[in-house]
Amino acid sequence: MDDLYRLTIGEAHQLLKRKQLSSVELTKACLKRLAQAEEKVHACITVCGEMAMRQAAEADKAIGSGKAKPLTGIPTIIKDNMCTRGIKTTCASRILENFVPPYNATVVEKLNAAGVVVLGKANMDEFAMGSSTENSAFFPTRNPWDLDRVPGGSSGGSAVAVAADEAVYTLGSDTGGSIRQPAGFCSVVGMKPTYGRVSRFGLVAFASSLDQIGPITKTVTDCALVMNVISGHDPRDSTSVPNPVPDYTKSLIPDLKKLRIGIPKEYLVEGMQPEVRVIMQAAIAKLEELGAEVDWNVSLPHTKYALAAYYILAPSEASANLARYDGVKYGFSYRDTSNMWEAMEKTKQFGFGAEVKRRIMLGTYALSAGYYDAYYLKAQKVRTLIKQEFDHAFEKYDALVTPTSPTVPFKLGERVDDPVQMYLSDICTLPTNIAGIPGISVPAGFVDGLPVGMQILGKHFDEATLLRIAFAYEQATDWRKKRPPM
Ligand code: GLN
Repeated sequence: MDDLYRLTIGEAHQLLKRKQLSSVELTKACLKRLAQAEEKVHACITVCGEMAMRQAAEADKAIGSGKAKPLTGIPTIIKDNMCTRGIKTTCASRILENFVPPYNATVVEKLNAAGVVVLGKANMDEFAMGSSTENSAFFPTRNPWDLDRVPGGSSGGSAVAVAADEAVYTLGSDTGGSIRQPAGFCSVVGMKPTYGRVSRFGLVAFASSLDQIGPITKTVTDCALVMNVISGHDPRDSTSVPNPVPDYTKSLIPDLKKLRIGIPKEYLVEGMQPEVRVIMQAAIAKLEELGAEVDWNVSLPHTKYALAAYYILAPSEASANLARYDGVKYGFSYRDTSNMWEAMEKTKQFGFGAEVKRRIMLGTYALSAGYYDAYYLKAQKVRTLIKQEFDHAFEKYDALVTPTSPTVPFKLGERVDDPVQMYLSDICTLPTNIAGIPGISVPAGFVDGLPVGMQILGKHFDEATLLRIAFAYEQATDWRKKRPPM
């Protein structure tokens, strides 16, 4: 087989277990593919080929002694905001350009314990702030479906690495849509788990009450397999929840009988590309064919405040989290002065990019005495209303279905000078993080060769139902078989 890099986790695992393939062969094939694809897409900040080959050899030993777990020996790439011991973790920022963490994020430990192979670290918007991966301090990532277009963001590198077959699956992080939106833009599967489902220990904090790590994969089955490994309580993250983790593969059944699905009308209006609406209508009709009861008459009226609330809450938390980059503890340090205050100021001035500075200023302002009540407190109240509205909807529906993004991937450069236009790319995904509920994006079709994603939202800790709906839809359509033209 010369296109081993095309394998899914499920397929590769079967071949590895039956000794028809070795992890060393698979890893070599992915590294070769990665080297070719990187010339065009630039999805990776760091590639660690030697380490990957060592891990592959170890995985082959484990498999040889009958210890093959579902992810053993399978190559992955990790978003560059998750700490990897001994491997640079830059957050795509100058301020962490040379930062090598002394410890692993919990998700990385869990992957290591499963015997995975780490090929490298994925490009992203600086500190996960952005929707196009153009805010990386190093280089933008390109969409393999059209190299002149963005892959979405902030986990653009992670989504592209899967779409371009550089890695079998990747990890991303999602604060307002950063897993789902790029997954939608690249025609792959991306899940943001419930807040608290996956440990955030070792994830470089952007907005701690919204951040969550999740998988980006080629299929829904693969998504369930990765969720099985990364989910669960972690004593090192006080916001991770001790609920038992089900076997998510058990929920993958190909029909939707008795499921009630609501279509919130606020997600299908304003600024939506007409072709995306047509695709959504067809996708929802397919869900009905599969047995779901669909109600088109759902209304979540507070959705219209989600964007405003998010852009108070996320920057406020970011302004507090990013205060640690003072040039003293770690990371870039401005040294051309003997004045401490000047050193701190210049460290941030040269270390942070424009979008990060914009967020710090917005957040500092919203939290300052005299404005706190008018902005931050108000946004927190809106947050409660949005959460209650979802809770209320889930009394009646098992899931809600929306587009992942109101448009197809846009051109590189098109929105960089207009932050509000850029912020609007996440209008469909932000409310999920505000409410802490889970969401998944699955490929739902193409407009002139450009991907469109369908988003499915569910109750807290009910990832299983989302996976079931996504799986049934995936099996009933052919979108996953389409590969980018590169
Ligand atoms: N695009 C949104 C932002 O810029 C969400 C980013 C994310 O989910 N990390 O904040």
